[in-house]
Amino acid sequence: MHDFTYRLPQQRTVRTSLPGPRSSALSERREAVVARALSPGLPGFVVDADGGVLVDADGNSFIDFASGIAVTSVGASNKKVAKAVSESVTHFTHTSFMVSPYESYVAVCEKLAELTPGDHPKKSVLLNSGAEAVENAVKIARAHTGKNAVVVFDHGYHGRTNLTMAMTAKNKPYKTGFGPFAAEVYRAPMSYPLRDGLDGETAAARATKMMEQEIGTENLACVVIEPIQGEGGFIEPARGFLPALQAWCQENNVVFVADEIQAGFCRTGRWFACEEEQVVPDLVTMAKGIAGGLPLSAVTGRAEMMDAPVVGGLGGTYGGNPIACDAALAAISEMEEHDLAGRAREMEAIIREILEPLTELDTVAEVRGRGAMVALELVTAEGQPNGALTSEVAAACKQQGILILSCGLDGNVIRLLPSLVISEALLREGLDILATEIRSRS
Ligand code: PMP
Repeated sequence: MHDFTYRLPQQRTVRTSLPGPRSSALSERREAVVARALSPGLPGFVVDADGGVLVDADGNSFIDFASGIAVTSVGASNKKVAKAVSESVTHFTHTSFMVSPYESYVAVCEKLAELTPGDHPKKSVLLNSGAEAVENAVKIARAHTGKNAVVVFDHGYHGRTNLTMAMTAKNKPYKTGFGPFAAEVYRAPMSYPLRDGLDGETAAARATKMMEQEIGTENLACVVIEPIQGEGGFIEPARGFLPALQAWCQENNVVFVADEIQAGFCRTGRWFACEEEQVVPDLVTMAKGIAGGLPLSAVTGRAEMMDAPVVGGLGGTYGGNPIACDAALAAISEMEEHDLAGRAREMEAIIREILEPLTELDTVAEVRGRGAMVALELVTAEGQPNGALTSEVAAACKQQGILILSCGLDGNVIRLLPSLVISEALLREGLDILATEIRSRS
């Protein structure tokens, strides 16, 4: 696997106890003025980041296996992105595309039409956050079909706004105390091979039966699914599940929405995760990796569906900010130039080489995922979800200078989301330490 040239030394260095004195002082300031609902995982305040490292205020350099939750795929200070942003900001920072249009917005939409699956005519709308993209996909599906109901899946995550909270499965911490939630959102059973043992077609038949019996296709506007679930535990449905669902949607005038917010943009070794089974969604929601860290999200889909909402029906003050659009064009060109989808596949081979032997342990039920979106599900000796072990391992890794996130309804899944430009040495070092931490507790 080839490495890149980096601005910062690509090494793990823990110089102080964690958190160090400067970060501790910043934490005190944070506690005084930042709502406690925001509780950062890293025991350090970041002052610099590049390639696969995060450097904190005390000079500690962490291996970053989180990438700002799958955002900085091209690196957190990618040169091309930084140059595009600096250049862009000298011209204009904002106009609101709805008021005064600019070229970069159109150029991003052209690129999305080219990159997303399918060769049908496509159009896009650009927004700020993932949740906003999901909300807009639902609006578009409702406007197109004239129907209301929305289907999502067990374990799914789609955001924290009112509609997307309803669409998100996990109660604590995402929904607790925040109801009432939006109506007409229904949850169908997901394909979860480790737990249900069903093949893809059978799991899809179970889900579509539920939709027919409990909702009715005459009421159903869209099915929204993450091709590989992110926050829900990196759950990869059995092969055949997504194509069967998509075919059923097509037969029943139901819009099939792939939420590629976490899995998209080369993360899984392809531009989009649903390409693995040649699934062509009607609408795709994107965010995170799209713009090298700048806030940008998008819905891209069949032109006739995207044009269903009335003129003026979609938008927002900031959606498709010009700096974010220029950053997206730069980030996408980095992905193309360096074949980061290919690099993600190479990363998967290394991740599996180091982590798969752990499945011999009783505590590791499975290594799953694709590309640079791979997770380990940890269990007790009785095979039950082991959230306590997961937290312990993640905490031990942090103390050694590796930022690792967990996920899953039971918090028992360790997920890896390294930058797609991390050096091979750093990737191996972080994985070796993770493996050692798991072994020493098993
Ligand atoms: N959908 C998926 C699949 C996600 O992973 C996320 C974020 N984790 C969202 C939607 C929401 O994105 P945001 O946090 O940008 O609103």
